[in-house]
Amino acid sequence: MDFLTDYINEVKQHDLYRALVSYQPLDAVHVESQGQRYLLLATNNYLGLTHSLAVKKAAMIAVEQYGTGSGGARLTTGSHPLYEKLEQQLALFKGTEAALIFNTGYMANVGIISALVNKNDVVFSDELNHASIIDGCRLAKGQTVVYRHTDMAHLAEVLENTPCQGQRLIVTDGVFSMDGDIAPLDQIVLLAEKYQAMVMVDDAHAVGVLGRGGRGTVDYFGLKGRVHIQVGTLSKSLASEGGYVAGSQTLIDYLVNKSRSFIFSTALSPGTVAAGYAALKELQARPELVDKLRHNGDYVRKALVAAGLQIDGALTPIIPIVVGEAAVAEEMAQQLKEQGLIVSAIRPPTVMPGKSRLRLKVSAAHDNGVLVRTVEIIIAVSKGLKLI
Ligand SMILES: *Cc1c(COP(=O)(O)O)cnc(C)c1O
Repeated sequence: MDFLTDYINEVKQHDLYRALVSYQPLDAVHVESQGQRYLLLATNNYLGLTHSLAVKKAAMIAVEQYGTGSGGARLTTGSHPLYEKLEQQLALFKGTEAALIFNTGYMANVGIISALVNKNDVVFSDELNHASIIDGCRLAKGQTVVYRHTDMAHLAEVLENTPCQGQRLIVTDGVFSMDGDIAPLDQIVLLAEKYQAMVMVDDAHAVGVLGRGGRGTVDYFGLKGRVHIQVGTLSKSLASEGGYVAGSQTLIDYLVNKSRSFIFSTALSPGTVAAGYAALKELQARPELVDKLRHNGDYVRKALVAAGLQIDGALTPIIPIVVGEAAVAEEMAQQLKEQGLIVSAIRPPTVMPGKSRLRLKVSAAHDNGVLVRTVEIIIAVSKGLKLI
């Protein structure tokens, strides 16, 4: 078993060792850890709905009524009535015929891509797609062709030059999780139409964030009916757990019959599904949450750029401060933590060597005063580290 210790030592030598730390949630954006209170600038809880009274109550009522675990996979006895309700609502929200819930976004991507891409098929995947998309491609029986990040000339070239006897599938994150940049979905769709490829977009970071009322990238680009497969998760803006796919009824029927991560795993518990449903209803009833999120992101981004920091990405709540070496990112995260802020240091292998960054995420649950103070602290720490 020496190889285990060898691996851990190697990781430590490269400053890349990771350990679990426990955080007790206090509200949507504050946690307590070892007696200290911290502000989270690292949560996917974009709208703060994890602590909405309506969402918590819906989960509790569902547990009262139906119990905790679901007791079976969807195709056996686990398909409790809350599923259908949520799937119909998701389809309505996404403007598709139907939707299907998986247990996580990770399982959705792995299960969909491996079910769709068979022998003779080719999947074209952006090089910075989420790990779950990469793993779906690895499991698929067809060929995977990786194109350079959001590089449409390169995508056109590989579509043109890759022989394919079966189906083509282009897959991309809608909003990329490391930089918060937005995929050029309008151009991807044009290329897909030219080469008769299916398009799959993963809107894990786009739902609740982009498009009218947070409907995601298809709505943002005005591409209704032209994107075949829209994946998302209930675990980020929607304050629960579970992944989903929205698309045609035929696509959903196919996945129910073919997707192994759907078929061979126990259904989500009633409380989890009810929380996701209540959060979606809340998002639809309160579109001003999406505006507040956008406002918060704009404020922090502009203030940090004005201070001279290198900020990558686009107009999303994900704000990456690029600092270079992994050790610098680690040090900055540590100093921010001492000042009461939790910010993720993103290091290789998650990003390229030399591109380590602090990844800030704002939430609609951050109030203005908190963000003003946050920006001051980040600027002071950056000056101390001679980043500006
Ligand atoms: C978070 C994320 C996932 C995984 O979703 P989970 O529900 O957390 O498993 C998939 N794709 C992208 C782009 C993500 O950011």
